Amino acid sequence: MIYFDNSATTFPSDRVRSVITEYLNDEVSGNPGSLHTLGVKADKLYNECRANIAKLLGASSDEILFTSCATESANTAIRGYVSRNKRSGNKIISTKTEHKATLECLEYLKAQGCEIVYLPVDGRGKPDLSVLEEELSGGDTALLCFTMVNNETGAVLPLSEIVELRNRVSRNTKIYLDAVQALGKIGIDLHKTGVDMCSFSGHKIHSVKGNGILYIKSGVNVDPLILGGGQQKGLRSGTQSLVLAKAFEEALSEACEDIEEANKVASGINDYLREELKARKAVILSPDDAIPFVLNVSFSSFESETMLHCLEMYEVYVSTVSACSSKAKKVSYVLLECGVDRKIASNAVRLSFSRYNTMEEAREFIKILDEIYDKYLIIH
Ligand code: PLP
Repeated sequence: MIYFDNSATTFPSDRVRSVITEYLNDEVSGNPGSLHTLGVKADKLYNECRANIAKLLGASSDEILFTSCATESANTAIRGYVSRNKRSGNKIISTKTEHKATLECLEYLKAQGCEIVYLPVDGRGKPDLSVLEEELSGGDTALLCFTMVNNETGAVLPLSEIVELRNRVSRNTKIYLDAVQALGKIGIDLHKTGVDMCSFSGHKIHSVKGNGILYIKSGVNVDPLILGGGQQKGLRSGTQSLVLAKAFEEALSEACEDIEEANKVASGINDYLREELKARKAVILSPDDAIPFVLNVSFSSFESETMLHCLEMYEVYVSTVSACSSKAKKVSYVLLECGVDRKIASNAVRLSFSRYNTMEEAREFIKILDEIYDKYLIIH
């Protein structure tokens, strides 16, 4: 099997598997809210785990909230901030290339009366910062919502320029950052970034599904999304899962090791595939300065889904960024927003790598691709 779909999800690493096995033990399975020794022990371990995660991310322990996934983190951050800070402004600025976890929150808030401004993005997926400056200068902006690394193209956000602009023009505006696809690929030191809220997802960094993190900078207040028993200082009710928290911690500590080496591995694969694919007349859609872990490519003569299923026959797994519905063919809104021609976008496939992919897999991928072209391409 060749698994080039790591932006969709990753497989649990050996270290994560063994931590999960360890933390399924009765001794550590008490309810952290219980008053007896098992509860106290679970609570202590949970708090230690939160402190370790905070340290790895450059934050303080009380700034880290455990959630079920990054979608929940985004909802808590965006909707929770607006709900709690009604007098901070009525405008939210973002782009149309965000993940649906952000976009759907923004559309929800629009229906509630918020003004949502979507900045234009250029061909490399970068938001227009002159429009951002103009919009910020007008005042009334509560929140900026951006993604550090785009999940479809690997485009990287000019974060420090955005933070500098916010600090200069509209100091009270808060920044929510989706760092889901950046974790383990770009070093993250939250206190140094200047963002106010930031979301992460465990299953993108070789943890299991069902664990996410939301960073909320000290002094920033949000309303909770989930009400109940008041766990996690009332910000996210529901019995805490020590095993999932430990899985995230282990995956994060693995992801933070050797980020440079991981980038070298991914760059080797990415550079090789770019050259080979270009030689086969494929169009590379990821910008040149994208992170090396994502390679969006459009194959001439093969629609996205056809290519995905051809590759699947060889046990090669990738993603399409377009999906067919019975009525209309959907094409990636991210690619269209970046100005990619609709026909080219409808043939787009996303290859996404993890630090555990190899050059051998990349070479095998090209061999398989050549076989697919020989076998299935009908030239009219
Ligand atoms: N943000 C980005 C950039 C993503 O790629 C994803 C998942 O694909 C999410 C948010 C949502 O993550 P989760 O699956 O943890 O809800």
